[in-house]
Amino acid sequence: MAPPDSPSGSSNSPALAEVKFESLGLSKPMLKILARRGYSSPTPIQNELIPHALLGRDVIGQAKTGSGKTAAFAIPLLEMLEQSSNAPQAIILAPTRELVQQIVTEIEKLIQGLDVKVRGLYGGEPIVRQLRSLERGVDIVVGTPGRVMDLLERRALVLNEVYHVVLDEADRMLDIGFRDDIERILRSVPDPHQTLLLSATLSDDIRFLARKYMHDSIELNLSRDEMSVESIKQYYITVDHDKKLDLLQHLLQKDQPRQCIVFTRTKRGVEKLGQRLGRKFGGVGLIHGDLAQPARNRVMAGFRQGQVKILVATDVVGRGIDVEGISHVFNYDIPEDPENYVHRIGRTGRMGRDGVAYLFVCPDEGDPLTNIEMLTGKPIPSFKLDGFVAHTRRAPDQREYKEVYRIGF
Ligand code: AMP
Repeated sequence: MAPPDSPSGSSNSPALAEVKFESLGLSKPMLKILARRGYSSPTPIQNELIPHALLGRDVIGQAKTGSGKTAAFAIPLLEMLEQSSNAPQAIILAPTRELVQQIVTEIEKLIQGLDVKVRGLYGGEPIVRQLRSLERGVDIVVGTPGRVMDLLERRALVLNEVYHVVLDEADRMLDIGFRDDIERILRSVPDPHQTLLLSATLSDDIRFLARKYMHDSIELNLSRDEMSVESIKQYYITVDHDKKLDLLQHLLQKDQPRQCIVFTRTKRGVEKLGQRLGRKFGGVGLIHGDLAQPARNRVMAGFRQGQVKILVATDVVGRGIDVEGISHVFNYDIPEDPENYVHRIGRTGRMGRDGVAYLFVCPDEGDPLTNIEMLTGKPIPSFKLDGFVAHTRRAPDQREYKEVYRIGF
């Protein structure tokens, strides 16, 4: 991919075009690999995280996907690996299968020509395949906490030689309920070891986890403008519940997105909407947690290659999807948790590209809208589609509340 000229999260960082990977203390072979990959300069997060990680320090980093964070932890980790001993030296935990696969893919790009083996461990793929890979020996394991625990209990995965631990999207892992598994896994790693914890938000829960399992850690805010996601144009549209599908179809026809994700709140919602859109548009794919892994892989491959143009998804699997062509995000159902809004819209505007995010707000959803605006720290402008009446009922609460709220800004 082309080097980012204005990667997300760059507002407080040095002019990155002037920073070179050479100044970060990386080895010659690694510099060669990066040059071959077309990474000419580090993204802000790489610039900040790599030097600390190379010193072996524990780091807590507030960072989002799309900012080059995978390479930010993978590059120093690869630099610090010892001679291959076939037992894992590093373990990376991530909340979803898709994210695990994405991390593995990024690492595979960075180990071409090196004697390093990486393996993804997640549910949905027959466990025997993973057992066999582990028997053959791996240097880096990347897994969801659930599957990693399963393999630990079977004694197929042994963490005695692990020195590097990465907790990616730690907040999301806790949200999903992986706390116990994470703690058990962390207790299985011998001391001393290095921990890199990356999280979009640093809640009390995250800090508690960090205090308990990390030593002398340094905290880096690697996504200062995380919440404003500047390259993304955001709009909300007030719409009656029964007009949402119509509205979406009109917007799809008007904007002709290169590729887009439509977020719904439930798996059933994904199925229903996916079928309906499929009758009108080509290239519709759908993805949610109940879908079998091969089907998920097929959809994601189709999305990456561009055959799938409209991907209907739930939050859990949609979050973290890193596909460059995504020009639009439709929040078909307003997210219950405002943080999910930030994660959803961050699927577009990747690596500094422009993106558009529409948020469908029903007349009784003024509160969640306000919560989102409070979190992002900016009012979202409303949008009206010419020639389309999206809602007929008056929504006094929402309007009045918003006016008051805006004055307070
Ligand atoms: P991530 O935030 O890890 O999901 O990365 C987002 C995308 O940026 C991935 O497609 C990476 O391959 C790409 N990337 C990571 N670092 C760089 C860099 N220094 N220059 C250009 N692209 C990069």
